[in-house]
Amino acid sequence: MQKTFLSATFTFASLTSLALLSLLGFSHLAAAEEEPQPAMVVIIDDLGDNLKKGLAAVHLPGPVTLAIMPHTPFGPRLAQAGHQLGKEIMLHAPMENHAGMRLGPGGLTSQMSETTFKKILQDGIASIPHVEGINNHMGSALTEKAQPMRWTMDIVSGQGLYFIDSRTSAKSQALAQAQAQNIASQSRDVFLDNDLAPAALEKQFQQALRIANRYGSVILIGHTYPASIQFLQDNLPKLDEMGIRLVSASALLYDVEQAHQRPEVQLAQSNEDPNAHPH
Ligand SMILES: [Zn+2]
Repeated sequence: MQKTFLSATFTFASLTSLALLSLLGFSHLAAAEEEPQPAMVVIIDDLGDNLKKGLAAVHLPGPVTLAIMPHTPFGPRLAQAGHQLGKEIMLHAPMENHAGMRLGPGGLTSQMSETTFKKILQDGIASIPHVEGINNHMGSALTEKAQPMRWTMDIVSGQGLYFIDSRTSAKSQALAQAQAQNIASQSRDVFLDNDLAPAALEKQFQQALRIANRYGSVILIGHTYPASIQFLQDNLPKLDEMGIRLVSASALLYDVEQAHQRPEVQLAQSNEDPNAHPH
């Protein structure tokens, strides 16, 4: 009898202290176990001109995000194929760069009037099905200017899209203008493939993993080079066992908890030299 009584008393005492701990706000001990896994967004840029390379990106494993150039011969077809395979589609909008590189159709420059600028961007969006967001192709010159970035965000906002700054200039105004209009937005953290040597790809990927683990998320941009696609094909399936979730850009941007936790990452990699970063 006595033993049972003691045991019951002990249990009651334990329950009481647990309840007390909860009241005192110690419930975060339980919440800590439910902290979200670090997330990685992988965006493949420059799709649309080459069907074979585009399809290789479309068939990457998992929710990779595809950024497709406007008015390209295979853009719509790749967007359809990607969408069917659960890939998120972005418009990869060509923007004026300091190197004077050709922009191609749908290119945006600072010489355009507001009306022309907005029409070209709208037509670019309309040229690709399933577009949910926009990032800039090149743009080291245009993104440094507040006014064209404001016009860009007017369209992004009006169409209910999100914006990812590819960050081809350290002086980019894109994110500030997006935030001023309350647009879901973030900057690219790491370029996978400025250098296509296997060791260089590995180094960039490791940097992305470090950022994800430290800040809770990372945005990695790669291109349709065969070496990049092969690298991602080999490495994306390993993310799960490393405790990293591969997510689409919108899944990251609209995840309020992640977005609030995420401070601005200081980029170790400078992108001021447009010749090194023609993307
Ligand atoms: Zn690009």
